[in-house]
Amino acid sequence: MLVVMKAQATPEEIQAVCEQIEQLGFRAHPLPGAQRTAIGITGNQGEVDRGNLEALSGVAEVIRVSKAYKLASRDIKEEDTVISFSGTDAAIGGSSLAIVAGPCSIENRVQAFAIAEQVAAAGAQFFRGGAFKPRTSPYAFQGLGIEALRIMAEIRDRYGLRIVTEALDNESLDMVAEWADVIQIGARNMQNFSLLKRAGRLRKPVLLKRGLSATLEEFLMSAEYLMSEGNYQVILCERGVRTFADHARNTLDLSIVPAIRRLSHLPILVDPSHATGKRESVLPMARAAVASGADGILVEVHNQPEIALSDGPQSIYPDQFARMMDELERIAPVVGRSLPRGIHVEAAATGAHDNLVE
Ligand code: PEP
Ligand code: MN
Repeated sequence: MLVVMKAQATPEEIQAVCEQIEQLGFRAHPLPGAQRTAIGITGNQGEVDRGNLEALSGVAEVIRVSKAYKLASRDIKEEDTVISFSGTDAAIGGSSLAIVAGPCSIENRVQAFAIAEQVAAAGAQFFRGGAFKPRTSPYAFQGLGIEALRIMAEIRDRYGLRIVTEALDNESLDMVAEWADVIQIGARNMQNFSLLKRAGRLRKPVLLKRGLSATLEEFLMSAEYLMSEGNYQVILCERGVRTFADHARNTLDLSIVPAIRRLSHLPILVDPSHATGKRESVLPMARAAVASGADGILVEVHNQPEIALSDGPQSIYPDQFARMMDELERIAPVVGRSLPRGIHVEAAATGAHDNLVE
């Protein structure tokens, strides 16, 4: 159910409706839009009696949301969700494209700084790097853990780049939430519902990657898990799905981009690195992703991919990344977007904790 407030409804009226919903034993999710606030109701197994809600002051109407995912749906919020990063001009969603770039894994301080310097110089606003790695083999490099988080925090201080890194489980989630600006939940964990619920209780943006064989509805239901716990700062990421194709690591399902944009207000990024597994395919797929309406790109960049500890073959060189930025900057206006180059950070804004507002 969804309570649509009148455009002129006051904050007190919105508050009173939320209290009434909670009193009925449900959860209220006020989602302010440009025109009006809508309040999602979750926690109800069956129908909510709309009678007394419709009578409350400031209420325009009470409507049923028929889709399985509710808070993630455009029915509840017409405008695109834009996630901003306090004290900076960086954003994910809206008219400007967000570029998240960096190595698959943080391997050591020298490597991470060398790559960060080059992706910052090319104009990325977000730096990615794995600290906790989901590897197919237990014998493969598992990540530097907390040490990598510290290195990335130093990178944020030095270059202003906002930090995106993966949480693998409950334990790493707490650490990642403390150090990073965006918590990544990887493809293999897309349906780890207890992890999603826990991340949903945080007030920090979550980048949710599509599962290896997840349908659009399953993908949005996982976003719904995060949102149902009150975390509305969710970023989706298409990273390729598993098919019979054997020319690429995965099959990039770009057709999910317009489908998601029609059904959901959440931003969606595309990861051409994991989607293809091949360096030479990354730039063409990044171009296509922007042309398809994606809100940005997540891409693996390495200065020495031939000796990378993970995902070297799909990591592009820093000069290729700079070329990608130039090309995407030119494609962006064709689809009504712009590509900001570089991040501006206010002197007082330090980082991760700025975003941890309840
Ligand atoms: C990654 O981003 O490095 C990663 C492991 O991605 P995915 O979860 O999409 O495989
Ligand atoms: Mn990787």
